[in-house]
Amino acid sequence: MKNDKPYSTKGLMEAIRYFSDSVVCLKHVAESKWPTGPACPQCTSKRLSFLTTRLMWKCLDCKKQFSVKVGTILEDSAIPLDKWLTTMWLLANCKNGISSYEVADAIKVTQRTAWFMLHRIRYAMHTGSVNKMTGTVEADETFIGGKARNMHVGKRMERIRGRGPMGKAVVFGLLERETGKIRTSVVTTRRKGELQRRIRENVATGTAVYTDALKSYDGLESEYAHKVVDHAEQYVDGNVHTNRLENFWSLLKRSIKGTYVSVEPFHLFRYLDEQAFRYNERKLTSAERFQKVLDSIVGKRLTYALVLG
Ligand SMILES: [Zn+2]
Repeated sequence: MKNDKPYSTKGLMEAIRYFSDSVVCLKHVAESKWPTGPACPQCTSKRLSFLTTRLMWKCLDCKKQFSVKVGTILEDSAIPLDKWLTTMWLLANCKNGISSYEVADAIKVTQRTAWFMLHRIRYAMHTGSVNKMTGTVEADETFIGGKARNMHVGKRMERIRGRGPMGKAVVFGLLERETGKIRTSVVTTRRKGELQRRIRENVATGTAVYTDALKSYDGLESEYAHKVVDHAEQYVDGNVHTNRLENFWSLLKRSIKGTYVSVEPFHLFRYLDEQAFRYNERKLTSAERFQKVLDSIVGKRLTYALVLG
């Protein structure tokens, strides 16, 4: 299947026009999923016939019929590919994210459906890197507002005590300066054990680690070239700061406040994945960023039950 990707350097309008043809959508997803051509998911045979009316393949060896959605996060979804691809484009490229209400309106589905689609795409955006960060790393944590007032009293007290001021969730981040890539995670407390464990899991020994003066970072000197930003004494060392990570926090907060209004603590990590994805891929073009999301849907599945926890 040949695909001439006419949208490759263009913006949203071009993309929407391109995705309006269901056969073009199918070809595009198939090429991303099977770079060397479609194969039967059951017996791996490449002897297939394409069923034009159903937009599916039939295996000539084991007789199984399958769609391009099989084995991807789109499996079991009745939503047509043009709506999926448009939504992926929007989430990959809207700097402050996009709400399920906006998506519902744009592609004509219910808000509930749009919400679930967005969570599936966020799941695809999650990149769990196994390589440890090196060079110079900024480490910092921030509070993201929860909705403690709507919780059961006992649960609320537990959250408030465990999570810091006003029941907010704690988010921890690491930014590797040389690559400009960020990693974020939701943590239960700002205590030393938890924050330092995250650093050890993600940062190679000997790396320069810059943090603020929070006591939880004390003692990192034994394994890292740890330097502390002293906000009271500016201009001590212009290079020792966590400004880039702080800029990311403000982007994240703007996106959550402006677009999503509020985020349930349980789902917060998916919004972090989404914002970190756009940040880490900010040097790509819109089309490249979209393609990166599409490529990552292959082999990932997310059931409704899993999203709701
Ligand atoms: Zn087969």
